[in-house]
Amino acid sequence: MFSKLILNTVFLFSVLTAFAQSDNGQKTHLKLIKVNNKIYVLQGNGGNIGLSFGNDGVFMIDDKFAEDIEQIQEEIKKVSDKPVRFLVNTHFHGDHTGGNAAMAKTGAIIFSQENVRTRLQGITRRETKKIPEEALPLVTFSEDLTFHFNGEKIYVFHVHNAHTDGDSMVYFTDSNVLHTGDVFFNGKYPFIDIENGGSLKGSIEGLEKVLLLINEDTKIIPGHGNVGTYKDVQKSVDMLAFVYKRVYANYINKKTEDEVAKMTDITNEYDADGYGTGFIGTEAFLRMIYKSVALDRKSIENNAEKNKQAREKVEKMIIDQKQDDRN
Ligand SMILES: [Zn+2]
Repeated sequence: MFSKLILNTVFLFSVLTAFAQSDNGQKTHLKLIKVNNKIYVLQGNGGNIGLSFGNDGVFMIDDKFAEDIEQIQEEIKKVSDKPVRFLVNTHFHGDHTGGNAAMAKTGAIIFSQENVRTRLQGITRRETKKIPEEALPLVTFSEDLTFHFNGEKIYVFHVHNAHTDGDSMVYFTDSNVLHTGDVFFNGKYPFIDIENGGSLKGSIEGLEKVLLLINEDTKIIPGHGNVGTYKDVQKSVDMLAFVYKRVYANYINKKTEDEVAKMTDITNEYDADGYGTGFIGTEAFLRMIYKSVALDRKSIENNAEKNKQAREKVEKMIIDQKQDDRN
């Protein structure tokens, strides 16, 4: 299905929805898992929800699909009666923002990187499947912001052009727990939304930023998959860098996308570890990487062409100048 990555956003939404649902069968069953004494992850259809409970109330990261929001709210109430005061969207995809309107109605204030709001607004304008105005984040930021909540600093920071162009991660500095959004799929090939500003290079850089921030004791809530550790992120970065290098070399050697899609020797080692059993299978992953490499190469080639034009312009100016001097 990903062989033609001419995905418009609606199509992408339905694809993600379909994947998410086939992931768990037809009925949503949510699983609330304790990460430490105040932080929980809520798994089930759609992206992982992160939750912090404490005296100040509930702090929430992402809200899955609209149709599951009542069940999600019930799960939250099992731990605390306090209201959800702040909600951070890690990016705009429907399996992370679907519950926004319902959460806003309960008084939660929604935060996101500014591109998330822009993307959601774009959908509101374009599509028949309207996203209500109240689902849009009320507060946006460009690089980062810090919450002082439930006894710790919660650092929200943007990673550039990774899974999308609006990704944020959320780090609970005292708990030493990080929610990565979809920049990290634990133990699976990630989906990179190239159509909406994502890139492989940005994904690798984003995960490298994570490795600088965390340590061996950090608990990591991925966008999808189980809670992981430093080692899991390290493995993902190594995998992405390795596959990128191999696909890049093949691109330079004029191999086509179809040819590269069949080169499963590139991914052998990771396929054996089950990386191809998530949303993105091996072939789709290789095609996605190929597209990302092609985009990178094009911008390099474009720059080289622009540099050449600038040089020619200067050369012409010098010749003209000499001509003028002679006259
Ligand atoms: Zn996503």
